[in-house]
Amino acid sequence: MTKERLYLFDTTLRDGQQTQGVQFSTAEKQRIAMALDTLGVDYIEGGWPGANPTDSDFFDAAPKTRATMTAFGMTKRQGRSAENDDVLAAVMNAGTPAVCLVGKTHDFHVTTALGITLDENVANLAASFRHIVTSGREALFDAEHFFDGYKANPDYALSCLRAAHEAGARWLVLCDTNGGTLPEDVGRIVREVIAAGIPGDRLGIHTHDDTGNAVANSLAAVLAGARQIQGTLNGLGERCGNANLTTIIPTLLLKEPFRSKFDTGVSDEALQSLRRTSRMLDDVLNRVPAKQAPYVGSSAFAHKAGLHASAILKDPTTYEHVDPALVGNTRIIPMSNQAGQSNLRQRLAEAGLDVDRDNPALPRILDRIKDMESRGSSYDTAQASFELLARDELGTLPHYFEVERYRVISERRRNARGQVVTVSEAVVSVWIGGEKITSFFENDHGEEAADAGPVNALARALASDLGRYQDFIADMKLVDFKVRITNGGTEAVTRVIIDSEDGQGRRWATVGVSSNIVDASFDALIDAINWKLVRDGATT
Ligand SMILES: [Zn+2]
Repeated sequence: MTKERLYLFDTTLRDGQQTQGVQFSTAEKQRIAMALDTLGVDYIEGGWPGANPTDSDFFDAAPKTRATMTAFGMTKRQGRSAENDDVLAAVMNAGTPAVCLVGKTHDFHVTTALGITLDENVANLAASFRHIVTSGREALFDAEHFFDGYKANPDYALSCLRAAHEAGARWLVLCDTNGGTLPEDVGRIVREVIAAGIPGDRLGIHTHDDTGNAVANSLAAVLAGARQIQGTLNGLGERCGNANLTTIIPTLLLKEPFRSKFDTGVSDEALQSLRRTSRMLDDVLNRVPAKQAPYVGSSAFAHKAGLHASAILKDPTTYEHVDPALVGNTRIIPMSNQAGQSNLRQRLAEAGLDVDRDNPALPRILDRIKDMESRGSSYDTAQASFELLARDELGTLPHYFEVERYRVISERRRNARGQVVTVSEAVVSVWIGGEKITSFFENDHGEEAADAGPVNALARALASDLGRYQDFIADMKLVDFKVRITNGGTEAVTRVIIDSEDGQGRRWATVGVSSNIVDASFDALIDAINWKLVRDGATT
């Protein structure tokens, strides 16, 4: 049986950004887009160019992706032509191969929110999509409030879809904008839309999770004939979030009837990176990953009950609906770390470390990670710190330098003109071979320039003189710094994750944990330098 193609449309960067407290930087958007592209989604909606400066910047420097880059906007306004609508022009000017416009289909919204006649709205839809298609782009119609509109006035809602369809829109995306529709209604309405003459392979589904049914609604729409699913990584999105692609993707690939019926752009190999992709987004957002997230949560395959654990050891299918390795997750069983070891070897291989199955360092590495994580550390994203820890246990970590002491001072005072200023200074002493090097950093323009704080002062002091290793670290810079209070055994501790970058465009993350924020930062900084020295092949 030949499989039908099902298309995945990601809107993490657009609808996901509507989440309270979420505002991606351009660099973060680029990073997320690349991760989505690697995962294999078909469309990446990058934002609304013209409406939001970061979105415009993103499209100016949009990464080259296999996925179809899509700009979002709204249909033309009443009283001007599509060609002369400056809001629509800003969307078109982003130059993306696809353009997705939201428009009304609910008669109540047309007359109340837009204050135009029903016919005027239909004419605006048709003109907008004709404009996109004429300019050689792929057009998508986000049919806002479609399900509520269809229930209120099915003929009108359908006439809006037809207008966009006849104008050449490739996709008509049925949106459950308020998130209140339940799966049975979604399935029924999608079937009725198809019966009314709109082909299912032109229909998309866009749901929100206000009743906890966004994933179920998406699947119901597919079973009824829709062939595009819109959603976000980790279900990011306004209010209760959008349909969670991190849940939908493995369901489509691993569960019947979807598995036998459909192909998506996500390969089995890419599926194994799902957990990492999910963590990447949490890392960008500085959020604690949801432990109970389906498929990718750290508790998703954790078996605590002794009875379950012993049965799992005999046959994992006794208490697992899928193999955790398929989605890059790990089975957690208190009494066995077999699964942990195979996962560990894979992660070591990603760091370029090929380690035999029977290498005695493997259980030691696992134990040390477990111990460090129980004290509040986390190696999920801090791949560079993980690599150093593993190299240390494998006996392949060169010992470049030893820190004898450091000291930082941050002082707030009034300057001669009576202004309040803060000045930070640091001094670090390290031993390299038999040589002791002491370096300083002082915010010498503290009275005029903004003080970047004690961690910056420490980083600058370390970077100012590292003796024979100075050339290796000269192009390093600290590009991100995240602080989180977390649980370290019985006490709250501070976890610091530092992202560094170098002149070769490499970016790596390191972690430090301590009850003292400066100490935690210092450990992360030292790891960052050591990783750079190892990767650049510095010798002792
Ligand atoms: Zn939405």
